[in-house]
Order: sequence, then C-alpha cells, then structure tokens
Amino acid sequence: MKLLEVKNLRTYFTISQGTVKAVDDVSFDLDHGEALGIVGESGCGKTTSALSIAKLLPKEGKIVGGEILLEGKDLAKLSDEEIQKHRWNDVSICFQGAMNALNPVMKIGEQIAEAIVLHHKSSEKDAMKKAAELLELVEIPGERINNYPHEFSGGMKQRVMIAMALACDPKIIIGDEPTTALDVMVQAQILNLLERLRTEFDMGFILITHDLSILAETCDKIAVMYAGRIVEKGSSEDIFQRTGHPYTKKLIKCFPDIKGNKRMMEGIPGAPPNMLEIPPGCPFHPRCEYAEEVCRRSMPDAIERDRGHFVACHRWEVMRSER
Ligand code: SF4
Repeated sequence: MKLLEVKNLRTYFTISQGTVKAVDDVSFDLDHGEALGIVGESGCGKTTSALSIAKLLPKEGKIVGGEILLEGKDLAKLSDEEIQKHRWNDVSICFQGAMNALNPVMKIGEQIAEAIVLHHKSSEKDAMKKAAELLELVEIPGERINNYPHEFSGGMKQRVMIAMALACDPKIIIGDEPTTALDVMVQAQILNLLERLRTEFDMGFILITHDLSILAETCDKIAVMYAGRIVEKGSSEDIFQRTGHPYTKKLIKCFPDIKGNKRMMEGIPGAPPNMLEIPPGCPFHPRCEYAEEVCRRSMPDAIERDRGHFVACHRWEVMRSER
C-alpha cells in the first residue's frame, strides 16, 4: 500500500465572482522515503493541493471530489475534529516564510516543546528534552533552546521550523516554498538537511515550489501543475530528459541550471489564466508556441507516454521529436 494516494482530487473555492476550480482532477502518490516535487507558477493549485491534504483550507475552499488516502484511510472524508489527530502526527507542513511566525518573545525550545506537549501529550520536561534533540537533528546545538528567535539567522529559523514539523514524528512532511526567502547557499543547506532527514526517517516528502531547477536534485518524481491540473508528471529524469509538455519546457528554461551548465534563460510569455475564466481547450494554448486548432477546442487528457510518465498535450510527439 502506498503511503499517500491522491486520486482525482477536486478542491474548489466559492467566491463572490463565481467558482474557482483551484485543484481539478489531480492525482499523485508518494511512498515512504520518497520525495515528490509539485511545481508551477503562482495560482496553479500547488499550495491548495497541499492544504487539501492537511485539510487546512480557508473557509471558501472545499474538497468537492476525489480521495486523499493516507495508508488507505481517506482523509478527505474526515471531520475537522478527526483530522486533528493526523495533522502534525502524520502530516506536517512547513510553509514559506514560516520562520517569521515564530513568537519573538518566547524561547525557541519552549516553542518547539509547546507543539510536542500539544500533540504528544508529553510532560513539559520530556518535551524540552525532545526539543533539544530536535534542534541537534537540524544541526543547531541543543543548548540553544534558551535563545530567542532574534538570536538566529533566517536559515537557522527555518531549521527551527523544520524541527517543529518533525516534533510529532510525521510520516509526511510538506514543504511549501520552504527555502524561497533564503539565499542560494542557505537554500542548498536546508534542502540537503530535508533530504537527509527524509532518508534517515523513511518519511515521504512533498516539496512545493515555483522553481523547477531545485527539484532536479531533491526529488524522485515531479508533478507540473497549470491552471489547477497536472499537465505532466513522471520521474525527475522523465521531466528533465524526456520533457513532454511545452509548459514544462518553458519552466526548465526559466531558471539557471542547478549543475551550472550554461543555458539561455527565458521567461514564459503571457500570464497564467484568470481562474474564473480558464480558456477553452488546453488552458495553456494562449501562451504555447506549439498550439494548433485542436488545442483551442479540446482539453488534452493526461496519457501515460512511458511507464509512469504522464503528459497532457495534443502535440507531445512534436515536442519530443525536437530534442
Ligand atoms: Fe500547447 Fe496544444 Fe500541447 Fe496545450 S495541447 S500544451 S496548446 S501543444
């Protein structure tokens, strides 16, 4: 049984102007010790997918279809009260800029211990001991439990947030742009740390980002999202070496090669669609250099082109033949 299986997930937002299909028929899975990257531009549905798994959606958002199976148990069907048992204990989320959420007037150790007491019902003494161990785990000396947040750098504060996410020994950690606010060197250190922890504890890891280049080294597999749907998914090698979707191709060219190979960086022309007025046919067609008449008429299905490599594009063969 897979650690996590998300099947045909639909999460919609009802706002005064209409219904936003933020996540529309999205499926992916994750095994113990595996890392999945979810990538796409702002508003593509990647964060909503993560919030759906932890059922942390804002009040306008609702899961209207599909399943979120955690070791076979459907989290989508649980009440708010029931999901509390799984949040932190099974699934932890580390948000972008979460380090700024640390309480400035409370010692770091007390903040980590608070999460442990709350979710593990430990005594305060045991929780402080575990807080020091968790700090060591994220490569911060345990004696710094008595320091305040202002005594830590941005990278160290993000490590503290990772220690908090680990407080209840979750099976899955979701990092939503966990390194975006950090400089490149610190970003690499945090990603290496997450990689080490994932391997050491055989956890599933979902990394959400707009920067496809950081997923190449970090993730076993990648799902590329556009306008609420997955347009391509496969192993990291499929995505980078056998790219099948024009949007993925553009995303690859948006960021410098992580290995330092020289390549021309390009932006993606146009802007992501207004989610209240998604274009008919393939939603990417107004921005796609490969678009033909069929693309304006019909939405392409995600079809398995190679084992485990899915592409939703009418013209994937043309794309592939160009490599
Ligand atoms: Fe481009 Fe057509 Fe493929 Fe959409 S279906 S990505 S418009 S070629």
